[in-house]
Amino acid sequence: MTYEEILTKYEPVIGLETHVELGTRTKMFCGCKTDFGAEPNTQVCPVCLALPGALPVMNKAAIEATIQIGLALNCDIAEWCRMARKNYFYPDMPKNFQTSQYDEPLCVDGYVDVEVDGVTHRIGIERVHIEEDTGKTLHVGGATGRIHGATESLVDYNRAGIPLVEIVTKPVPGLGALAPEIAKAYVAELRDIVRSLGVSDVRMEQGSMRCDVNTSLNLPGEEWGTRTETKNVNSLRSVERAVRSEIIRQAGILDEGGKIFQETRHFQETTGDTRPGRSKETATDYRYFPEPDLVPIAPDRAWVAALKEALPEKPSVKRARLREDWGISEIDMQSVANAGAVELIEETIAAGASPAGARKWWMGELARRANELDVELAAVGATPAQVAALQKLVDDGKLNDKLARQVLEGVVAGEGDPAEVMAARGLEVVSDTGALTKAVDDAIAANPDIAAKIRDGKVAAAGALVGAVMKTTRGQADAKAVRELLLERLGVS
Ligand code: ADP
Ligand code: MG
Ligand code: ZN
Repeated sequence: MTYEEILTKYEPVIGLETHVELGTRTKMFCGCKTDFGAEPNTQVCPVCLALPGALPVMNKAAIEATIQIGLALNCDIAEWCRMARKNYFYPDMPKNFQTSQYDEPLCVDGYVDVEVDGVTHRIGIERVHIEEDTGKTLHVGGATGRIHGATESLVDYNRAGIPLVEIVTKPVPGLGALAPEIAKAYVAELRDIVRSLGVSDVRMEQGSMRCDVNTSLNLPGEEWGTRTETKNVNSLRSVERAVRSEIIRQAGILDEGGKIFQETRHFQETTGDTRPGRSKETATDYRYFPEPDLVPIAPDRAWVAALKEALPEKPSVKRARLREDWGISEIDMQSVANAGAVELIEETIAAGASPAGARKWWMGELARRANELDVELAAVGATPAQVAALQKLVDDGKLNDKLARQVLEGVVAGEGDPAEVMAARGLEVVSDTGALTKAVDDAIAANPDIAAKIRDGKVAAAGALVGAVMKTTRGQADAKAVRELLLERLGVS
């Protein structure tokens, strides 16, 4: 059966669980730092190493960020809730339980509106709760970096205890063949919302945002099917592929009269399909119970109201407003958003550039450069003020496009502001008419045959002489001005 045939026969239901690592300065239950990439086991203490007798204390900034996320997702914020112990063994989890939330989450019952092809789909949010991350295990001595064949396993506890927020959707039925695409659009929207709050850098490729994708199939009119949970899907594209491949796989089994088992599966980046993992624990396996070492959370209503009041403009609303201001299409706006360029372009415009000018540099040269360096656009080495200054030099005729690109290269390399780079590298457009006239006259003198043709009215031949002038001025002349001057000197303007 083709994908389309499957979707005429079965109805998919999806559900997404997304983990967001918060960007707090310190960990969830201790004062250890959370800097990314520090030497292993240098950001640890008795609490996050679970040494006997150490007691946790809640991080207020993490609770605040979780409430902000809940509010931005239209959730109700609990008046009173507790943390819970989720018991299981994992070598990089020193306590042998994860401090999480179970039946008393901090935020419940919200929604996110997701637009695909001009149609809005409302995705229900079941819960938003706070928990903590585990450490990291490194298997060494083997060829693959996996435990199989390794001689030793090393554990780095720096990440243990970093606050994580888990955002769980309600089951979403009724999406039909669009389920994979809407799942991806939901995760993108969620990422933009969390980013707009400034509480996490939400970078899927670095793991600060991770998705588990639940998928099931049922026949029309029947109960929802058994779901599988595909773990740690690490890019937007993979979210879409994971849902799609699970739909195809499950349909194959059901069509042969087989059964789907509730299990954890792993997404394979290379093949785009899913492989079985462990058979899924049920909640009772975890022996959840309320955390006795932490006080309950009872957020003051005035605090919650103030946080709600202070929420930033919704990304979807902001995109629509800017799209109007900048006069660009929805698709162009989408690529600006996907490139993480919305704020950069906004600030460049605020610094004096035109919308078209600002967008051109960030989405062109700078996006290409960021891609090469494998860094976020914001970290590429040019500031909005510098990009605005560059565009101004172009508008003032001091730089042409080609020279401006070279100046930008210098700016990105840390050589200074555009005017400084232009001066230091001697890149300014030759605007001195005396010098330009001499260059044109030299070109005419050096190419008498071509000059004669142009005088005879074969204006098409002018290109060769313009080229000669551009060459002697090392590209630093304005080609249009050269052409005009040339025709004038030859008396054919
Ligand atoms: P667990 O921790 O066992 O994964 P959660 O409640 O955290 O359970 O998450 C379950 C996810 O699966 C939710 O997003 C939920 O909407 C989704 N889900 C539940 N039932 C189905 C189903 N029949 N098909 C697809 N998704 C489902
Ligand atoms: Mg789960
Ligand atoms: Zn610590």
